[in-house]
Amino acid sequence: MKSGVACIISEQIMSSSDSCKDGASKLLSNDDGVCKVNDMLQNMSVGDVSVCANCGKEGSSDNMNLCNKCKVTTYCNAVCKKVHKKKHKKDCEEYIRLATEKHDEEIRLAAELHDIELFKQPPQLYKDCPICFLRMPSLETGYRYMPCCGKEICSGCVHSPVYDNQGNVVFGKKCAFCRTPHPTSDDEIRERVNKRVEVEDPLAIHKFGVNHRDGADGFPQDYAKALNLYHRAGELGHIKAYTNIGNSYYHGRGVEVDEKKANHYYELAAMGGDSMARHNLGNNEVRAGSFDRALKQYMIAVRSGTSNSLEVIKEMYSNGYATKDEYMKALQLYQEYLSEIKSSQRDEAAAADEANQYY
Ligand SMILES: [Zn+2]
Ligand SMILES: [Zn+2]
Ligand SMILES: [Zn+2]
Ligand SMILES: [Zn+2]
Repeated sequence: MKSGVACIISEQIMSSSDSCKDGASKLLSNDDGVCKVNDMLQNMSVGDVSVCANCGKEGSSDNMNLCNKCKVTTYCNAVCKKVHKKKHKKDCEEYIRLATEKHDEEIRLAAELHDIELFKQPPQLYKDCPICFLRMPSLETGYRYMPCCGKEICSGCVHSPVYDNQGNVVFGKKCAFCRTPHPTSDDEIRERVNKRVEVEDPLAIHKFGVNHRDGADGFPQDYAKALNLYHRAGELGHIKAYTNIGNSYYHGRGVEVDEKKANHYYELAAMGGDSMARHNLGNNEVRAGSFDRALKQYMIAVRSGTSNSLEVIKEMYSNGYATKDEYMKALQLYQEYLSEIKSSQRDEAAAADEANQYY
């Protein structure tokens, strides 16, 4: 995931330089600046053969003597370099200026491309519930991980009765997906999660990590171990693990506090669809005083189901940091989300037990 994003960006930069040849720069208007610099730098050598700037003698690029300052102008030997020094001074300064400009332009372009990726509405973090086929709620109490079969099931389906093949209600708590009876002790839970960890189930590995963070389900509290498990779960594709890696760096759990790294992992998680990480990024933007960027982050989080972000947008509106239209837009996005997750079964589960709240 991490290198994937970096790859997209560097690939796009590469392709933008490639487009210089035919002058067809499509990506961003400011490519022209980079292209001009590229052309000027390319004109100084032809393939593997370079020409001495002092005496005109040709030689292979590998054997030529480069100007120590600009690293662009080539000489056949140190004597030619010395003789040409005064004449070359002005060009040398210009080459250095162009190279710096090119470097700055590339950094600017990379940041712009990064933002394009960052502010896209991300994919849905969770698959739909495998039983009722409705969109899974983002709120953590809206679904459960089943260590029997490794499925995540919505709170509504967990709560509703399980029927046998004849349509009779099955008494006693059983997994709504695979019908395995619920575990009755910490030992049994640990054993089941262990088995799922052994088959490299990223959800189980992540849960294992959370248990080590909290010292829950009979696991000892161990932040360093939790962090290792998050990394493993993330590598296996569980996006939520990146949010917890971000939290580890943010709070200094098992590592030194490092807000830059925290942000990096929150971004990975947010781009993968985790709305909690997205909300955290919004908070960071507020702290940095970048209210426009904060609003963008919160809007995306709202569409992915984070009511906290809606609350903050409301507050931004009443304090003049967001317009009425923006607040109305946020309300509309949240309604769209709710229409995808609402069901009477989930409502019933939530009414029966607060631990089943799903929005
Ligand atoms: Zn020479
Ligand atoms: Zn030079
Ligand atoms: Zn369901
Ligand atoms: Zn199951």
